[in-house]
Amino acid sequence: MQEGVVLKSTGSWYIVQGDEKDPIACRIRGRIRLDESKSTNPVAVGDKVLFEVDPQTGEGVINKICDRKNYIIRRSTNLSRQTQILAANIDQAVLLVTINFPVTTYVFVDRFLATCEAYNIPVILLFNKTDRYNIKQQKHLAEFRNIYEQIGYTTMEISAKTQDSLDDVENLLKNRTTLIAGHSGVGKSTLINRLEPGLDLKTNPISEIHQTGRHTTTFAEMHPFSFGGYLIDTPGIRGFGLAMIEKEELYHFFTEIFKISSECQFHNCMHINEPHCAVKKGVEDGLISPSRYNSYVSIYLNKDEKYR
Ligand code: GDP
Ligand code: ZN
Repeated sequence: MQEGVVLKSTGSWYIVQGDEKDPIACRIRGRIRLDESKSTNPVAVGDKVLFEVDPQTGEGVINKICDRKNYIIRRSTNLSRQTQILAANIDQAVLLVTINFPVTTYVFVDRFLATCEAYNIPVILLFNKTDRYNIKQQKHLAEFRNIYEQIGYTTMEISAKTQDSLDDVENLLKNRTTLIAGHSGVGKSTLINRLEPGLDLKTNPISEIHQTGRHTTTFAEMHPFSFGGYLIDTPGIRGFGLAMIEKEELYHFFTEIFKISSECQFHNCMHINEPHCAVKKGVEDGLISPSRYNSYVSIYLNKDEKYR
């Protein structure tokens, strides 16, 4: 029996990287019971597993799935209560942000951050295309970064296209399992191709399709970096959204709002228009950024039944 990590799943076969140079195609031993019984797929990309290889066929059998540090899920279909695990054991997410070309909005960033907070995944905000910004946009970039630095998020800025060395980004990704996300056109492929020439990302075209809300049967995939670590490519990235967060708990995932909320007069305060709300006072006093509060309110108000 040896230990390995699942790089890819096709539904019935799992590609597992063990100690050998080449990954091995495995099936699952009978029915492996999981705590996540509502999930449609018992083994996910990123899962650490114990498996053995049949010396005759060269095929493997997965005997055990190790406990997951975290995982991201989406509903199998829009109406279903069943969930599909997209990926597991994610060390960090890198959200690629552009001030322009295309515009990334605060609410887009805040939705992503809240989702990752809920899944317990640290996020780094990587601002790209710094070579393209005029003075006004540079100023906006500085303000944008500052909002998130204040809350405690790590931010960096790069030009994936023109920068000579991307060593800082490489160091960030080295020996970790990373999910990279961002609007189409922000430069994900450009960045990945510079870090690992030849790596073919699937994130983009399908993420556009997902905006219409229909899930396809595409699976996530994990690609090794030659400098160590893995990149998780999730074609269904848009599908993991905020669907799993209850409206009443949304503020728990805005860390600075959650911290101050213990001072609200009502323990069930939603920070919308309740009296003596410490969050609203925090915005007035400059402790909470107005853009963060606006994002919270707009996500809260839009999070009606159809998202549940
Ligand atoms: P993706 O959709 O996120 O994968 O974005 P791409 O990597 O395909 O990039 C979209 C466009 O932005 C391409 O034309 C890239 O050449 C360009 N691009 C990417 N990074 C930069 C950058 O740092 N500076 C500039 N000026 N253009 C960039
Ligand atoms: Zn409140």
